[in-house]
Amino acid sequence: MEFYGDYHLHSSYSDGRCSVEEMVMAASLTGLAEMGLADHGPRNLFTGLKSEQMLLEIKKEIEQLRPQYPDLQIKLGVEANIVSLNGQLDVGKELIAELDFLIVGLHPYILPDRVVDIPWILRNQTEKIFPSIKNRVRNENTKALVETIYRYEVDIISHPGLKMPIDITEVARACLKRDTCWEINTGHKFPGLQEVSTVARQGVNFIVNSDAHFAESVGALEYGSWVLEKAGVPHEQIKNVK
Ligand SMILES: [Zn+2]
Ligand SMILES: [Zn+2]
Repeated sequence: MEFYGDYHLHSSYSDGRCSVEEMVMAASLTGLAEMGLADHGPRNLFTGLKSEQMLLEIKKEIEQLRPQYPDLQIKLGVEANIVSLNGQLDVGKELIAELDFLIVGLHPYILPDRVVDIPWILRNQTEKIFPSIKNRVRNENTKALVETIYRYEVDIISHPGLKMPIDITEVARACLKRDTCWEINTGHKFPGLQEVSTVARQGVNFIVNSDAHFAESVGALEYGSWVLEKAGVPHEQIKNVK
């Protein structure tokens, strides 16, 4: 299985180690036809964009680079954080309209939107220590993610269930309804075979991304081929397969 695009790439604007130009060069050298930059939204503690306005800076850089890479489609997105239980993102709709695509993700180390959301985030940081709250945490995370999928035009959910447990059947139902892709994240080798099989049976589309934070990892999508082939997912259900 071969892929023509990788849409979850971080640059040094957030916690990636390489510049936008280095990531673009890497995608071009790897032979990808398309790439997407998706830095962390500003509410990621220590690792997010300095502000959502930085997306416009990245956009400018990309526009300048495009003529040098005629064989590569360079797209701009963001990996926005879900910052409230009611599905609010840390990037505004006006800025999202400037982007080519939108990835949303749940991350445990973020600055929540409202005071009432603080206990939810703290519970996620401690659910491994207190297994009794696991069900509650899973229900809350599922609700937040589903709300986001209905509030915004979400193209991809990043690493669904990683570090923040969710009810995958319920989230998959929302993805199917809203035409949102389920990410196979090769950087984290996540999700596993069983989850991919469950989601595939529900008819949801997948996209395989590297979540690269270094130029060397751009287009490293082998885990995606492995898990999708093992799960017997038809090519029509994989968005970026050749
Ligand atoms: Zn992430
Ligand atoms: Zn990421």
